[in-house]
Amino acid sequence: MIPALMPTYNRADLAFERGEGAWLWTVDGRRFLDFGSGIATASIGHGHPHLVQAIAEQAAKVMHTSNLYRIPQAERLAARLVETSFADSVFFCNSGAEANEGMIKAVRKYHAENGHPERNVTICFEGAFHGRTLATLAATGNEKYLAGFGPPMPGFRHVPFGNMNAVRDAIDGTTAAILVEPIQGEGGVRPASLDFLRALRAACDEFGILLALDEVQTGMGRSGKLWAHQWAGIEPDVMSSAKGIGGGFPLGAILAKEKVAQYLKPGTHGSTYGGNPLACAAGNAVLDVVLAPGFLGQVDRVARHLWRGLLDLAQRHPAVIEGVQGAGLLLGIRLKPEVNNGEAQNAAVAEGLLTVAAGMNVLRLAPPLIISEAEADEALRLLDRAMLRCTPSHAKDAAK
Ligand SMILES: *Cc1c(COP(=O)(O)O)cnc(C)c1O
Repeated sequence: MIPALMPTYNRADLAFERGEGAWLWTVDGRRFLDFGSGIATASIGHGHPHLVQAIAEQAAKVMHTSNLYRIPQAERLAARLVETSFADSVFFCNSGAEANEGMIKAVRKYHAENGHPERNVTICFEGAFHGRTLATLAATGNEKYLAGFGPPMPGFRHVPFGNMNAVRDAIDGTTAAILVEPIQGEGGVRPASLDFLRALRAACDEFGILLALDEVQTGMGRSGKLWAHQWAGIEPDVMSSAKGIGGGFPLGAILAKEKVAQYLKPGTHGSTYGGNPLACAAGNAVLDVVLAPGFLGQVDRVARHLWRGLLDLAQRHPAVIEGVQGAGLLLGIRLKPEVNNGEAQNAAVAEGLLTVAAGMNVLRLAPPLIISEAEADEALRLLDRAMLRCTPSHAKDAAK
């Protein structure tokens, strides 16, 4: 018989009751070091007192009023995001897919309003992940995810990630935008080179098309800067954010330059929940933590510490690990083809460490941004044991 909870996920048989910082406890009392953060979402860890208090206080006052009225918490959060980013204006929604969906609408609207409705194709990349709605599935372009869901939404074209020749070849009179993740998260924690991001910006300027960044996974401090594109010294025209911005409370956002945002007038786009007082109280609390002096510097420091430890881990386990990739606290251990990342994930669980598998046979690490160097060391110790569990027996014999 089908479970009451629809079986859309392959869930591990673990249920958590309580969390504190980077640690989670199951209902049966086991403790895990959480280097997955609920897929890069519990950005400031579990049970962060400031976030808990902000949510509790707002919940007691008023949670939801709808966008029929002004929402001071949303006005404040938007103003702070504008102040700390390239953007002039922000739209709030509830998830990453929804932010991307709105962003795709925004780039099409921009060209339509500028007299070019034929410019409605978004160039996307192989290995991308943009969400599970019909439009974002088409933007994702993964045959496995599209299968069975009818004709993919038109208006998307895919080229190899990192290949500037292919991008320029794909640009024509129908191109509206280039949509790219600064680091492909689900696709295998693959960073775009900073030069590739700069070249995309230049091509967009050259051809009058929009640069749309999907920073759903890479944003809100995950890379060691507030937004990952800041490492490249470029600015997008429009950007999506979600996951980490609510610290675990569902919140998504479209950040846009005025030239794009100006066309999203009343009646063009909307959301019932989007940017409600409770979600924005959570967003403001996360921002308080991430923007506190020294916070991002510490993320960068602990990330570099973890990176060095992972390089060392790779050296100790040449039969298991092919390489290490990623940036900031979004890191991937690329495994040898004979070692399956799902099995490696289970081996880590057996050692008390939570990670997330990603594409390209990568074991993804996305710990809460608040981890200490000691917690990074603890994760490395647990990974060392997990990698030993994954070592093929012939390699174990050779190492003796
Ligand atoms: C997770 C993710 C999404 C989808 O976000 P949802 O909140 O699951 O809809 C989109 N883009 C990227 C880069 C993501 O990592």
